[in-house]
Amino acid sequence: MRCEEAQELITALVDKQLPGSERASIEGHLKDCSRCQLIYSQELELKREVRKAGAGLGAPAELREKILHDPRVFAQKPTRSIGPARDARLYLRPALALALLILLVLPVLYMMRPAGRPISLTAFETHEKIVSGELPIIRAGSPEEIKEMLYHSVDDKFAPMTYDLSMMNLKAVGGTVREFGGRKVLVTVYEGEGISVTCYTFLGTERDAPPGAEIFFAAEKTTNFYTYSRAGINAVFHREGKLICILVSKLPLPELLTLARSNAQPTPPAQPPA
Ligand SMILES: [Zn+2]
Repeated sequence: MRCEEAQELITALVDKQLPGSERASIEGHLKDCSRCQLIYSQELELKREVRKAGAGLGAPAELREKILHDPRVFAQKPTRSIGPARDARLYLRPALALALLILLVLPVLYMMRPAGRPISLTAFETHEKIVSGELPIIRAGSPEEIKEMLYHSVDDKFAPMTYDLSMMNLKAVGGTVREFGGRKVLVTVYEGEGISVTCYTFLGTERDAPPGAEIFFAAEKTTNFYTYSRAGINAVFHREGKLICILVSKLPLPELLTLARSNAQPTPPAQPPA
Protein backbone atom coordinates (compact mmCIF):
# COMPACT_ATOMS: atom_id res chain seq x y z
CA MET A 1 0.00 0.00 0.00
CA ARG A 2 1.28 3.45 -0.87
CA CYS A 3 1.17 6.40 1.49
CA GLU A 4 -1.54 8.23 -0.49
CA GLU A 5 -3.78 5.18 -0.33
CA ALA A 6 -3.08 4.70 3.35
CA GLN A 7 -3.81 8.34 4.16
CA GLU A 8 -7.14 8.20 2.39
CA LEU A 9 -8.15 5.35 4.65
CA ILE A 10 -6.81 6.64 7.94
CA THR A 11 -10.00 8.44 8.98
CA ALA A 12 -12.00 5.32 8.24
CA LEU A 13 -9.54 3.33 10.32
CA VAL A 14 -9.88 5.78 13.22
CA ASP A 15 -13.65 5.39 12.97
CA LYS A 16 -13.27 1.58 12.89
CA GLN A 17 -15.05 1.54 9.55
CA LEU A 18 -12.66 -0.51 7.47
CA PRO A 19 -13.38 -4.07 6.49
CA GLY A 20 -10.85 -6.63 7.71
CA SER A 21 -8.77 -7.00 4.58
CA GLU A 22 -8.22 -3.26 4.17
CA ARG A 23 -7.61 -2.85 7.84
CA ALA A 24 -4.89 -5.49 7.75
CA SER A 25 -3.15 -3.87 4.82
CA ILE A 26 -3.24 -0.35 6.24
CA GLU A 27 -2.10 -1.61 9.62
CA GLY A 28 0.76 -3.35 7.87
CA HIS A 29 1.66 -0.08 6.20
CA LEU A 30 1.46 1.88 9.46
CA LYS A 31 3.89 -0.52 11.06
CA ASP A 32 6.54 0.38 8.51
CA CYS A 33 5.72 4.00 7.76
CA SER A 34 6.34 6.49 10.54
CA ARG A 35 4.87 9.35 8.53
CA CYS A 36 1.48 7.68 8.17
CA GLN A 37 1.72 6.46 11.74
CA LEU A 38 2.06 10.07 12.86
CA ILE A 39 -0.98 11.12 10.81
CA TYR A 40 -2.90 8.20 12.29
CA SER A 41 -2.02 9.12 15.86
CA GLN A 42 -2.88 12.76 15.21
CA GLU A 43 -6.30 11.77 13.88
CA LEU A 44 -6.88 9.57 16.90
CA GLU A 45 -5.91 12.41 19.19
CA LEU A 46 -8.09 14.87 17.29
CA LYS A 47 -11.05 12.56 17.54
CA ARG A 48 -10.52 12.16 21.27
CA GLU A 49 -10.24 15.94 21.71
CA VAL A 50 -13.34 16.57 19.66
CA ARG A 51 -15.28 13.98 21.61
CA LYS A 52 -14.11 15.49 24.87
CA ALA A 53 -15.08 18.96 23.68
CA GLY A 54 -18.39 17.67 22.41
CA ALA A 55 -19.10 16.07 25.76
CA GLY A 56 -17.93 19.18 27.63
CA LEU A 57 -20.36 21.31 29.54
CA GLY A 58 -19.61 24.51 27.70
CA ALA A 59 -20.50 23.34 24.21
CA PRO A 60 -23.76 24.76 22.94
CA ALA A 61 -26.13 21.82 23.33
CA GLU A 62 -27.60 22.07 19.88
CA LEU A 63 -24.24 22.16 18.15
CA ARG A 64 -22.99 19.33 20.34
CA GLU A 65 -25.90 17.12 19.37
CA LYS A 66 -25.47 17.99 15.74
CA ILE A 67 -21.81 17.10 15.72
CA LEU A 68 -22.03 13.98 17.82
CA HIS A 69 -24.89 12.60 15.78
CA ASP A 70 -23.69 13.58 12.37
CA PRO A 71 -22.87 10.27 10.67
CA ARG A 72 -20.41 12.10 8.49
CA VAL A 73 -18.30 12.92 11.54
CA PHE A 74 -18.78 10.02 13.87
CA ALA A 75 -19.87 6.64 12.69
CA GLN A 76 -22.64 5.38 14.93
CA LYS A 77 -21.81 1.76 14.21
CA PRO A 78 -19.57 -0.05 11.77
CA THR A 79 -21.16 -0.05 8.37
CA ARG A 80 -21.57 -3.11 6.23
CA SER A 81 -18.46 -4.53 4.67
CA ILE A 82 -17.51 -2.70 1.54
CA GLY A 83 -16.67 -4.94 -1.38
CA PRO A 84 -14.09 -4.50 -4.10
CA ALA A 85 -16.32 -2.01 -5.93
CA ARG A 86 -15.87 0.39 -3.08
CA ASP A 87 -18.53 2.88 -2.31
CA ALA A 88 -17.32 6.27 -3.48
CA ARG A 89 -18.79 7.79 -0.33
CA LEU A 90 -16.09 6.13 1.70
CA TYR A 91 -13.61 8.47 0.08
CA LEU A 92 -15.87 11.46 0.39
CA ARG A 93 -16.49 10.87 4.04
CA PRO A 94 -13.06 11.75 5.46
CA ALA A 95 -13.07 14.96 3.46
CA LEU A 96 -16.49 15.88 4.79
CA ALA A 97 -15.50 14.99 8.29
CA LEU A 98 -12.45 17.18 8.02
CA ALA A 99 -14.47 20.08 6.67
CA LEU A 100 -16.91 19.74 9.54
CA LEU A 101 -14.11 19.61 12.05
CA ILE A 102 -12.55 22.74 10.70
CA LEU A 103 -15.77 24.68 10.28
CA LEU A 104 -17.69 23.68 13.36
CA VAL A 105 -15.72 21.88 15.95
CA LEU A 106 -12.29 23.41 16.07
CA PRO A 107 -13.42 26.97 16.87
CA VAL A 108 -15.53 25.58 19.71
CA LEU A 109 -12.68 23.38 20.81
CA TYR A 110 -10.23 26.25 20.95
CA MET A 111 -12.63 28.49 22.78
CA MET A 112 -13.29 25.86 25.39
CA ARG A 113 -9.87 24.41 25.73
CA PRO A 114 -8.41 25.30 29.11
CA ALA A 115 -4.76 26.19 28.73
CA GLY A 116 -3.86 23.32 31.05
CA ARG A 117 -4.66 23.41 34.74
CA PRO A 118 -3.27 26.68 36.05
CA ILE A 119 -0.30 26.26 38.38
CA SER A 120 -2.04 28.59 40.85
CA LEU A 121 -4.69 25.90 41.37
CA THR A 122 -2.59 22.73 41.13
CA ALA A 123 -0.66 24.31 44.00
CA PHE A 124 -3.48 23.25 46.34
CA GLU A 125 -3.27 19.60 45.32
CA THR A 126 0.50 19.53 45.56
CA HIS A 127 0.33 21.10 49.03
CA GLU A 128 -2.15 18.47 50.19
CA LYS A 129 -0.05 15.65 48.77
CA ILE A 130 3.04 16.96 50.55
CA VAL A 131 1.19 17.34 53.85
CA SER A 132 -0.23 13.80 53.60
CA GLY A 133 3.16 12.37 52.66
CA GLU A 134 1.89 11.14 49.30
CA LEU A 135 4.41 13.35 47.53
CA PRO A 136 7.86 12.91 49.03
CA ILE A 137 10.12 15.93 49.36
CA ILE A 138 13.88 15.99 49.53
CA ARG A 139 14.84 17.00 53.02
CA ALA A 140 17.99 19.02 53.36
CA GLY A 141 19.98 20.30 56.30
CA SER A 142 19.63 24.02 55.92
CA PRO A 143 17.52 26.53 54.00
CA GLU A 144 20.65 27.38 51.96
CA GLU A 145 21.09 23.75 50.94
CA ILE A 146 17.46 23.54 49.86
CA LYS A 147 17.80 26.70 47.85
CA GLU A 148 21.00 25.43 46.16
CA MET A 149 19.42 22.09 45.36
CA LEU A 150 16.34 23.68 43.76
CA TYR A 151 18.37 26.30 41.92
CA HIS A 152 20.59 23.62 40.35
CA SER A 153 17.58 21.51 39.42
CA VAL A 154 16.55 24.18 36.89
CA ASP A 155 20.11 24.59 35.57
CA ASP A 156 20.56 27.76 37.64
CA LYS A 157 17.90 29.56 35.59
CA PHE A 158 16.07 30.87 38.63
CA ALA A 159 16.21 30.44 42.37
CA PRO A 160 13.32 29.70 44.68
CA MET A 161 11.88 32.65 46.57
CA THR A 162 13.19 32.44 50.11
CA TYR A 163 10.97 33.45 52.96
CA ASP A 164 11.92 34.28 56.48
CA LEU A 165 8.97 32.75 58.29
CA SER A 166 10.65 32.65 61.69
CA MET A 167 8.04 35.04 63.09
CA MET A 168 5.62 32.10 62.71
CA ASN A 169 8.23 29.60 63.94
CA LEU A 170 8.35 28.10 60.46
CA LYS A 171 11.54 26.80 58.90
CA ALA A 172 12.42 25.47 55.46
CA VAL A 173 12.77 21.69 55.76
CA GLY A 174 12.94 20.48 52.17
CA GLY A 175 11.74 20.82 48.65
CA THR A 176 11.05 19.28 45.30
CA VAL A 177 10.65 20.24 41.66
CA ARG A 178 7.41 19.78 39.76
CA GLU A 179 6.54 20.38 36.16
CA PHE A 180 3.19 21.80 35.08
CA GLY A 181 2.32 22.54 31.50
CA GLY A 182 5.99 22.43 30.53
CA ARG A 183 7.05 24.87 33.26
CA LYS A 184 9.33 23.90 36.10
CA VAL A 185 8.05 24.86 39.52
CA LEU A 186 10.34 24.97 42.55
CA VAL A 187 8.61 23.85 45.71
CA THR A 188 9.96 24.71 49.16
CA VAL A 189 8.30 23.29 52.24
CA TYR A 190 8.30 25.17 55.54
CA GLU A 191 7.24 23.47 58.72
CA GLY A 192 6.51 24.64 62.22
CA GLU A 193 4.43 23.53 65.17
CA GLY A 194 1.69 21.53 63.50
CA ILE A 195 1.55 23.84 60.53
CA SER A 196 3.09 23.66 57.12
CA VAL A 197 3.49 26.22 54.36
CA THR A 198 4.31 25.25 50.79
CA CYS A 199 6.02 27.87 48.66
CA TYR A 200 6.07 27.73 44.86
CA THR A 201 8.39 29.68 42.60
CA PHE A 202 8.22 29.66 38.80
CA LEU A 203 8.77 31.92 35.82
CA GLY A 204 5.52 33.67 34.98
CA THR A 205 3.41 36.79 34.91
CA GLU A 206 0.36 38.08 36.78
CA ARG A 207 -1.73 36.38 34.12
CA ASP A 208 -0.93 33.18 36.02
CA ALA A 209 -3.10 34.40 38.90
CA PRO A 210 -6.43 32.58 39.17
CA PRO A 211 -9.28 34.66 37.69
CA GLY A 212 -11.42 34.67 40.83
CA ALA A 213 -8.68 35.82 43.21
CA GLU A 214 -9.02 38.95 45.33
CA ILE A 215 -6.37 41.51 44.64
CA PHE A 216 -4.71 43.42 47.42
CA PHE A 217 -2.32 46.19 46.45
CA ALA A 218 0.43 46.74 49.01
CA ALA A 219 1.57 50.30 48.42
CA GLU A 220 4.82 49.93 50.39
CA LYS A 221 5.94 47.15 48.01
CA THR A 222 4.11 48.48 44.95
CA THR A 223 3.01 44.87 44.50
CA ASN A 224 -0.30 43.14 43.88
CA PHE A 225 -1.07 40.22 46.16
CA TYR A 226 -3.72 37.81 44.96
CA THR A 227 -5.49 35.83 47.65
CA TYR A 228 -7.68 32.80 47.07
CA SER A 229 -8.80 29.68 48.91
CA ARG A 230 -10.07 26.20 48.37
CA ALA A 231 -11.53 23.78 50.91
CA GLY A 232 -10.00 25.49 53.92
CA ILE A 233 -6.58 25.92 52.32
CA ASN A 234 -5.42 29.44 51.55
CA ALA A 235 -3.06 30.82 48.94
CA VAL A 236 -1.28 34.11 48.33
CA PHE A 237 0.19 34.82 44.91
CA HIS A 238 2.52 37.63 43.99
CA ARG A 239 5.10 38.52 41.37
CA GLU A 240 8.79 39.23 42.01
CA GLY A 241 10.21 40.47 38.71
CA LYS A 242 9.97 37.53 36.33
CA LEU A 243 9.09 35.12 39.10
CA ILE A 244 5.75 34.13 40.51
CA CYS A 245 5.63 33.13 44.16
CA ILE A 246 2.71 31.36 45.77
CA LEU A 247 2.33 30.50 49.44
CA VAL A 248 -0.17 27.78 50.25
CA SER A 249 -1.19 26.83 53.78
CA LYS A 250 -3.96 26.19 56.27
CA LEU A 251 -2.86 29.38 58.01
CA PRO A 252 -5.61 32.00 58.03
CA LEU A 253 -5.50 34.19 54.96
CA PRO A 254 -4.60 37.44 56.79
CA GLU A 255 -1.56 35.74 58.37
CA LEU A 256 -0.47 34.18 55.11
CA LEU A 257 -0.82 37.54 53.40
CA THR A 258 1.28 39.19 56.11
CA LEU A 259 4.00 36.56 55.58
CA ALA A 260 4.03 37.04 51.82
CA ARG A 261 3.89 40.81 52.14
CA SER A 262 6.70 41.13 54.66
CA ASN A 263 9.00 38.93 52.57
CA ALA A 264 8.26 40.50 49.19
CA GLN A 265 10.78 42.75 47.50
CA PRO A 266 9.41 46.12 46.44
CA THR A 267 8.72 46.11 42.70
CA PRO A 268 11.17 48.55 41.11
CA PRO A 269 9.54 51.33 39.11
CA ALA A 270 9.44 50.68 35.37
CA GLN A 271 12.70 51.78 33.77
CA PRO A 272 12.55 53.92 30.68
CA PRO A 273 14.09 52.00 27.77
CA ALA A 274 17.84 52.66 27.49
ZN1 LIG B 1 2.95 5.87 4.51
